[in-house]
Amino acid sequence: MKFSQLAHFIEQIEETSSRLTITNLLAELFKKLNREEIGKTVYLLQGRLAPLYNAIEFGMAEKMIGRAVATALHLDKKKFVQQFKKIGDLGGATEYFKKQMRSLELEDLPAGRQGLSILEVYDILHELATAAKVGSQDIKVQILAKLIRQLDPLSCRYLVRIPIGVLRLGFSDMTVLDAYSWMLKGDKSHRSQIEKAYHVRPDLGQLGYIIKKEGISGLKKIKPAIFTPILMMKAERLSSGQEIIEKIGRCAVEYKYDGFRLQVHFKKSEIRNPKSETNFKSKIINPKHKIQVRLYSRNLEDVSFMYPDVIEGVKKEVRANEIIFEGEAIGFDPHSGNFLPFQQTVQRKRKYGIEEKAKEIPLKLFAFELLYLDGKSFLDVPYIERRRALEKSIQLTGDIFKDALLLASENILDDPKKLELLFDDAVSKGLEGIVAKKLSGVYKPGAREWNWIKFKRSYSSRIEDSIDCLVMGYDYGKGKRAGFGIGAFLVGIYDEKQDKFLTVCKIGTGLSDEEWRELKVRCKKLEVRSKPALYEVDKMMECDVWISPSIVVEIKADEITKSPVHTAGRKLKSSKSGKAFEVDIPGFALRFPRLEHFRDDKRPEDVTTLKEVDKIYSHGK
Ligand code: ATP
Repeated sequence: MKFSQLAHFIEQIEETSSRLTITNLLAELFKKLNREEIGKTVYLLQGRLAPLYNAIEFGMAEKMIGRAVATALHLDKKKFVQQFKKIGDLGGATEYFKKQMRSLELEDLPAGRQGLSILEVYDILHELATAAKVGSQDIKVQILAKLIRQLDPLSCRYLVRIPIGVLRLGFSDMTVLDAYSWMLKGDKSHRSQIEKAYHVRPDLGQLGYIIKKEGISGLKKIKPAIFTPILMMKAERLSSGQEIIEKIGRCAVEYKYDGFRLQVHFKKSEIRNPKSETNFKSKIINPKHKIQVRLYSRNLEDVSFMYPDVIEGVKKEVRANEIIFEGEAIGFDPHSGNFLPFQQTVQRKRKYGIEEKAKEIPLKLFAFELLYLDGKSFLDVPYIERRRALEKSIQLTGDIFKDALLLASENILDDPKKLELLFDDAVSKGLEGIVAKKLSGVYKPGAREWNWIKFKRSYSSRIEDSIDCLVMGYDYGKGKRAGFGIGAFLVGIYDEKQDKFLTVCKIGTGLSDEEWRELKVRCKKLEVRSKPALYEVDKMMECDVWISPSIVVEIKADEITKSPVHTAGRKLKSSKSGKAFEVDIPGFALRFPRLEHFRDDKRPEDVTTLKEVDKIYSHGK
């Protein structure tokens, strides 16, 4: 397919605010693509060249794109910047000049080359992103300029938005999964099967390729693969030992370490070194090994570079050829032997000054789940067997001061009192609480299941746990806040059923000046022209500025109440006159909400769900 045809689809997607229409448009597009095209097209639609966990950065800022456009169209840079400022969108400005220069473009192109295919554009963008580091700026500008010359105005509008990450078509991975089902069946009936595969292999491009090649049955073969992160399982919550034992019976109780979760992928391969081969039977005496380790965060980002101490520990202690396991990394004070509070541990999440911080706050990774070992998937294996196999795969010295990789504590019990004692013990050690695991429970990627139950410290307020929310938009501030350019922000939770974000509160107080500033900087990069199709917002809660789904915040509130202006769980009915809708059941709202942290380790779809809020509300009543 030509890139120009794709641009027409993108234009239609951009123009609609209906999720269903977007799904249909995507399905229609996918039908027209062949198996080689579908994966790369999906990445491009998401403004990327590969799945999220395989970050290929374009390394181009707005200014460089401007230079490329000016070079391509022989424009005066000032003139271009003026137009860009007027339109407020680099894509729109490029399209504007491209339209004016159309005749020039046709001259520039050899006959028969007008209109590159999607695959050609993808390959060129790939070349641009991977251009050699030294002196690459000019090379990148030249590559993009050439591409701009070769594409039509509408294609250019979208092309230039890709390298600076502002394509933002406002649909989620879930919408793509729905669209795959619609492509195959004309309805949602394959969605759950596709989603199951996605949880194990969250690579939309590859799933598209398999579906095109082998149909839906091809997905049955999908199992964990090294260096492809698996969506992480989540825990349900209960607040007493009694309730937990009643729910899952005899169980394994582990400490709930208050750090951040890592999924470790480890691969050991033999290097055939000629020097290490023996003289006579050419048998390897001293084979050398190459060990590769990658660490993924909860939102599937590759964070290996941040934690060299963890990588070192994993390399030393793992005894396997290939393994995928999970654990919680927590800061450790080597002087006192105590764990560090979350606020300190979290300082290890950084891009610069990594080595120094690693010395100041060394991490311990407490392994707690095995997902894959030497060619065998452990996802469907009961917890107790997973745990035993995990224990065999890690060789500890038993010295907590030496080992960076440890095993999570484990106690098997069926007595609620003992469970509560363990909970108190965890809290006294400065940990968050405990996680109880059903002995026969399997590992369900991406699911929140009763196979794991978390039991955390109770807070004095009626909501015992915090609520993770998505920041959807913000209002300009008045008074002092006008200086920050942000005075209140709207947050929402996720409704898995509808694949929509629904509002629960607008927060206008309780942030420090520093936090307001940080929020504004983060929002600025994500602004979109209109409300994303995935947001359901009442008129009363409209925002001055909408932002695309990305920022997750942890919110603490005193209570969940009901409100007609929030859409989480709200039901409408048609009014008596039949001309409008009125509120039948009000939505959920958070009372006295406060920002606790930014949760950069979570994806938008990982925020608290409507189902969970409903449960917390019913529990608190
Ligand atoms: P929370 O904010 O309570 O950590 P969450 O939404 O981030 O909740 P859940 O999946 O509900 O995550 O709770 C489980 C989390 O607890 C895991 O993501 C993991 O980071 C952490 N954790 C700490 N220790 C353990 C353990 N032994 N087993 C499983 N998870 C653990």
